[in-house]
Amino acid sequence: MVLSLLVSFTSLTSLCGYAADPFVQLEQDLEDSSPANALILLGQFKLDADNASIQELAQLRFLYGKQYERNRKLDQAIASYDKAIALMQPLGVSDLLIESHLERSFVLYLKTNDPEAYCVDRKKALVFARQQGNNELLAKTLTQNAFCYNKVTNVHQGLALLDEAMLIINTDGSANHTRKAMIYNATGSLYRTVGLHKRGYMNFEKAYQAWSEVDDTQDMFNMLHNMISEAIKLRDWEKARHNIERQFALVRSTPEFADFGFFAHLNAGRVELATHHYVEAIEHLKHAISLKETTREQYFISSSYQFLSLAYLRVGDVKKAAQMASVFRQDKNFPKNMSSMMLTADAIIAFEQHQYLPAMNTLLQVIDEERQNNKQIIDNEVIDSALEHSAKLADFENQLLANQLAINELSLAAVADKARIYDLRLSIFFLVAMVLLIAILFLWQSRKAFKHSAQTDFLTGIANRAHTFKFGQRMLDKAIKKQSCFAVIIFDIDNFKLINDQYGHHIGDLAIKAVAKRGARWLRGGDLIGRIGGEEFLIILPDACNAEASAISERLREGIAAQPFQFDDVIIELTVSLGVAGLKSPQMSLTDLIHQADKGLYKAKFSGKNQVYLVEQFA
Ligand code: GH3
Ligand code: MG
Ligand code: MG
Repeated sequence: MVLSLLVSFTSLTSLCGYAADPFVQLEQDLEDSSPANALILLGQFKLDADNASIQELAQLRFLYGKQYERNRKLDQAIASYDKAIALMQPLGVSDLLIESHLERSFVLYLKTNDPEAYCVDRKKALVFARQQGNNELLAKTLTQNAFCYNKVTNVHQGLALLDEAMLIINTDGSANHTRKAMIYNATGSLYRTVGLHKRGYMNFEKAYQAWSEVDDTQDMFNMLHNMISEAIKLRDWEKARHNIERQFALVRSTPEFADFGFFAHLNAGRVELATHHYVEAIEHLKHAISLKETTREQYFISSSYQFLSLAYLRVGDVKKAAQMASVFRQDKNFPKNMSSMMLTADAIIAFEQHQYLPAMNTLLQVIDEERQNNKQIIDNEVIDSALEHSAKLADFENQLLANQLAINELSLAAVADKARIYDLRLSIFFLVAMVLLIAILFLWQSRKAFKHSAQTDFLTGIANRAHTFKFGQRMLDKAIKKQSCFAVIIFDIDNFKLINDQYGHHIGDLAIKAVAKRGARWLRGGDLIGRIGGEEFLIILPDACNAEASAISERLREGIAAQPFQFDDVIIELTVSLGVAGLKSPQMSLTDLIHQADKGLYKAKFSGKNQVYLVEQFA
């Protein structure tokens, strides 16, 4: 029994560690240093150009890209990602290739803010990520692609991608709060851009909850800021004030975030202004402006001047109002799509200069623009396309349509008796709901059952060959990422043909079952046992180094040999032989490891059976 896959290795390393990856330390150092120092550090890092692999060369380019990005040297960052992509592309799909496309897209976004420019890379990354089988990366790629669909006409496509990302994270089972928070934040942003502020608010709230699970104060604060803006749009003052209080609580509890105070006062000022508490608004906005040095977000600094201008105007201080409006209008980079704010400032300045007609006309123009905005918001298309996004609903849409037709026909036939129609509608509705519910439950149950049976060995009830290999590879990938030990055991019942010959196939089957059951007894929670051949089993031990794997094997061997098995009225003594192999290099695949363990098993059989053989070196 020899697996056909032969791989040659160039490095032999210690028992359960492996050659240190030079990038792990480098990445850590880069993360710990300032942007400028990180570039110097990278310049000092030397790869042996003759022996470095293409992956390593590309990895280095990628790191250059990231550090240029941190230093806001956008063109150099793009050039670095270009090179990383050019190196990796011929090798096929990989995490690094996908990450490089995503990062290049992010730099293009910073540079152009134009979806036409930055979405090409995102779409490519998505095609690759769907082939790659890295769920975390797929969810990230889906989330970033969602931002490419922020128009009224296509927002439902963005929402569908986010639904898919969330489904992946939820079925993955890991409590990935950060990823969930990002998905909720993206969902909130899409709803906000198409004017569905209630949904925007709800999603920012969920993102806030998810960030708070991981104590990410900066992002919690940002989500509160978004929620306050949505609450103001919805004119829900209770919510707005509640979240401002939460912001002030963060100002007090985390003084290390210097700009929190500015934003909390700015938000408080906005709400006081909108609720006609002008004196309080002036207090808060002046306070915010006194803290303007703590932030580099010019947009918000300029806005606070304009809000203050409005508050002064409302209390009749036209002079100060015009002064503040002038400061606001000095910001030549204020976004053009915020023209209402700019026009209002112009009107205030004109008014103060007694130019009443231009002031009046400018304000009328503001009213026109606001009307136009509102029209867009209540555009049915927005609401329709946004509500349609639920994938689950879409599945049942046709069925519901058919039911709706049936209901309509019935209603027509019974038009004379309105009360009866009402009853009928109600019961049909419940009936349809019940049928749908049962159908969903049935589908869900049978999908679960199907998945379970596709992964289970019918005789022993443990994992089957395909599932053991697939899941085992995933466990190995994780161990390599964590740089922890990892070992596999293959064992095979000794002289099993004799048992079949002597007692018949039925007893043989019972013996296989019993050995699987007894074998599983020696394993820990995270271990996996699977039946990979007739009477041959594979055990995957994440976190076990060679010594521990050998000890487990020895216990297993002893546990089976020490106590005979009883089936019906037959008593049989069984022994097993075991081959053990541990991870020696991060380049090893599960197939390589199994191949090693298999050689151990062969040796154990060859030297008399009922024993454990640990493969210490590459065999
Ligand atoms: P060794 O100690 O070298 O392993 O000797 P062995 O007799 O166990 O030899 P080998 O592993 O090659 O043979 C295993 C036998 O197990 C061959 C096959 O007839 C029998 N077998 C395979 N699958 C099943 C099964 O599902 N049920 C039963 N009862 N027997 C099986
Ligand atoms: Mg055998
Ligand atoms: Mg066998």
